[in-house]
Amino acid sequence: MGKICRRCLLQDISREQYEDLIVRGLKALPEEDLTSGDETAKRLEICRKCEKLNEGTCLACGCFVEIRAALKKGVCPYKKW
Ligand code: SF4
Repeated sequence: MGKICRRCLLQDISREQYEDLIVRGLKALPEEDLTSGDETAKRLEICRKCEKLNEGTCLACGCFVEIRAALKKGVCPYKKW
């Protein structure tokens, strides 16, 4: 896969590049900052049912929910988790 331009918008990259961006972002986070896999999965199940979820981002705060949900300090702006 080619390198992603730092100055591109998400609309300029492919679906595969977008997914890779999330996966690489998660891998770059320090282990001590991450929740357990169970906690992350629980949070994401709540996001999955939320009307604010839009293609992996939260319309309430603009974050990538898979990254926010993986962080110990991550919070839902609507306090759903
Ligand atoms: S972070 Fe909260 S408001 Fe945003 S999509 Fe998840 S549950 Fe909904």
